[in-house]
Formats: sequence, structure tokens, C-alpha cells
Amino acid sequence: MFDALQLFRLDNRVALVTGGSKGLGKAMALALAGAGADVAISSRHLDEAEAAAQEIAEATGRRVIPIRADVTSADDVNAMVDQVVRELGRIDILVNNAGINRRGPILELDVETWHQIIETNLTGPWLCAKAVGPHMIAQRWGRVINVSSILGLVGLEERTPYASSKGGLIQMTRTLALEWAPYGITVNALCPGPIMTAINEVFKQNLEAYEAFRRRIPLGRWGDPEDIQGAVLFMASEASRFMTGAVIVVDGGWTAQ
Ligand code: NAD
Repeated sequence: MFDALQLFRLDNRVALVTGGSKGLGKAMALALAGAGADVAISSRHLDEAEAAAQEIAEATGRRVIPIRADVTSADDVNAMVDQVVRELGRIDILVNNAGINRRGPILELDVETWHQIIETNLTGPWLCAKAVGPHMIAQRWGRVINVSSILGLVGLEERTPYASSKGGLIQMTRTLALEWAPYGITVNALCPGPIMTAINEVFKQNLEAYEAFRRRIPLGRWGDPEDIQGAVLFMASEASRFMTGAVIVVDGGWTAQ
């Protein structure tokens, strides 16, 4: 009997999810572990990574290790990847998820804010890819999943640093996909639409803006973190083996308009 779901299994795979202690990162780490992978989740706060790792391990029966690392620090990133390989034996899947946002008109944003967002959302994924590259190249297999955003594809006022970082991440995805295609490593971008997590906390204080966003989403609701689990499993597994340099949008229809 042909079991098509085998295509999505991640048995014997090891995944690293940056910023994996909450929000979309935690939902993706849970999905990867639930499909059979051992998972490392990194956070700037070890206690938060520990709590999430324990929760995911209990829910899936997989090995899930917490790591403290700031993705803007090359030293932290290199130590993080070394720890994954040392403790879990290999690294097959990198989910570049850690990210931040600060909103405001350009005239009210300072350049430090710009640098902070670009460092986290663009330099961070670049450093992480660079650190996992030698391992993936040596084994001739790898999956790099860059969590961009619909704002990497379309504009929205008062998001100049964030949209620039996410657009840049899509171009990094395409370029690295070409660079690493000869080694059997695929590099793809995932662009979520509005999903209620800590990054969108401001909308809880501004119900009008929350509703305005909801009305703009054709499927009629904000997303839940679990809504991207299917996409990340596809992108991490054999199911997506002929896809690289691609951009997958999971946005309730926002960018279809
Ligand atoms: P979140 O704030 O819950 O999670 C972001 C995570 O990144 C947190 O765990 C945070 O601690 C971590 N992080 C931030 N800076 C870091 C650093 N320097 N080093 C290590 N970790 C760091 O928000 P989320 O919604 O789960 O966001 C996850 C990703 O999804 C982000 O890249 C975000 O831009 C992207 N995204 C989110 C949405 C949405 O609507 N929620 C939409 C599109 C894209």
C-alpha cells in the first residue's frame, strides 16, 4: 500500500528552530517533532527555551533540547550549531524564525531601530545559514526555511525596517537556493500573514486596528500559530524535494487582493 504521508515523515532528522520558545517558532518546533524529528529550540532566554523544550518533548516523545543564543551574535550562532551537532548528532533542517518588529512612520524611527531589525531579521538568518552550511553540504542534504512575511512581498505603511528586512530575506533565499542546489540543500521562504502572537501584542491594545486587519483577510480571521504547521512540514520533508528558492504564502488570502 502506498502511504503518501510517509513523504512528510521526519524520522532520523534533526531540526533547529531559532526563536522557538513561543509563537510561530514553538508551533513549528512542535510540528517537526510530531513528524519524528529531534529538535533544538533556541532563544535568548534559556528558561523560556527549557520550558518549551520540555512541553514539546512530552507532547511528542522526541528529544528536544533548549539552547541560549542571540541570532545577531556570530559567536552565539556558531556555538548554537556546534551544540546541536554535539548533542543531537547532526543538523538537517534550519528554521530561521527569530524575528522582531517595531512600527512607526520613518520620520519617527531612529536608525538604531533600523539596525536592530535588520540585524535580527536579515543578518541573523544569514549567520545561521552560514553556520549550518558546512554540515548540510557534507551530508548532501538540507532544508533551510526562512520565515519571511507577507511584508516581504507587499508594502504596509509604518513598517519600513521590517518590510525591508523581510524582502531582503526573500532575496537571500533565492540566492542561497542557487548556491546550494548542487549539494541537495533546498532553501525556501515561508511568508505568514497576520497571526496573533507576541509580535502583534500591540493589536490587543488597539481593537480597531485588530478588526481592520481581520476585515482585510479574505478568510475572515487572524491566523493561529498552528495554521503554518502544514506548510513547514511540507518544506522540511521529502514532500518538497523539487522545490527550492520558492516563496510559500500562508496568509488567509491577504496577498491575493
Ligand atoms: P514572537 O515575538 O512570538 O516570536 C519571535 C521569537 O524570536 C521570540 O521567541 C523572540 O524571543 C525571538 N527573537 C527575537 N530576537 C531574537 C534574537 N536576536 N535572537 C534569538 N531570538 C530572537 O513572534 P512570532 O509571530 O512567533 O514571529 C516569528 C517569526 O514569524 C518572525 O520572524 C516574524 O517576523 C515572522 N512573522 C510573524 C507574523 C505574525 O503575524 N505573527 C507574520 C509574518 C511573519
